[in-house]
Amino acid sequence: MKKYKDREWLYQKYTIEKLSAYKIAKECSCSVRPIFDWLKKYTIPIRSSSEAALIRCDDGKLYKNRQWLYQKYTVEKLTTVVLAKELGCTPTAVSWWLKKFAIPTRSSNESRILTLEKKNPKSMLLRNKKWLYQNYIEEQKSTCQIANELTCPASTIFNWLEKHNIPRRSSSEAAFLVYKSDPDPIVRKRRKKEYQERYRKKHMIESREKGKIRRQKRRAEVLVHYGGNPPKCVCCGELEDSFLSIDHINNDGAKHRKEINVHSGDAFYLWLKKNNFPSGFQVLCYNCNMAKGIYGKCPHEKAR
Ligand SMILES: [Zn+2]
Ligand SMILES: [Zn+2]
Repeated sequence: MKKYKDREWLYQKYTIEKLSAYKIAKECSCSVRPIFDWLKKYTIPIRSSSEAALIRCDDGKLYKNRQWLYQKYTVEKLTTVVLAKELGCTPTAVSWWLKKFAIPTRSSNESRILTLEKKNPKSMLLRNKKWLYQNYIEEQKSTCQIANELTCPASTIFNWLEKHNIPRRSSSEAAFLVYKSDPDPIVRKRRKKEYQERYRKKHMIESREKGKIRRQKRRAEVLVHYGGNPPKCVCCGELEDSFLSIDHINNDGAKHRKEINVHSGDAFYLWLKKNNFPSGFQVLCYNCNMAKGIYGKCPHEKAR
């Protein structure tokens, strides 16, 4: 009887010892055809061609041992490229066995980090959240300082801060720390001045803009209250916003402003608003207002 007709024997050779059908055929001094026939007959799963190819070229290699592969790839963090070199096979073969053994493979980003770490072992410190927190938050080192210490690019530090969920400083905070930590007192003084100047300028422009908008809004609010929407001169109906003003109906504007100690248009608008828009005021254009002030009555009214 041919050996391959024995199910046990065939299973042992093909599935356990992973001999190829060709090798088994050779051992039985027959062609490969009956081997496949009997494998099918005994419903022994036949390997795919890629699986067979891997077994053929990597027979007896260490990476076929799960423990060994796990140790090298996951614990020692060797790359598939390095492992392939070590074993004299292709990285694809290594990946294939990782998948087969259900060993989680690394993302390309992780692999990139590992490659960088291999080149520069100091950068491995960044994996330690405590260390990064200590340096960046507690010792208030800048990302550039940390990058210099570890001789790696600043972008790597940013990536790790994000990964560890450590909040990044704003640019002005960072600028403040840069001058504060400079060891040279003269440089420190100069940097401080530069920083304060920059800060002041930035905030001055900002607050100036904000103030302007606030005043415009206040004026519009007062004009709408006394002059309708859109506000207009009660005498001539002028609508042009920049010609409009608030008029004291009783012509006692100067006296009133002195009483309430108000010396600018905006301060007067503010007073009106703060006092809940008291009565005795109306919207007039400058022409009508002026004429009323000088002649007691606007010429428009005389004409009516
Ligand atoms: Zn008018
Ligand atoms: Zn008028």
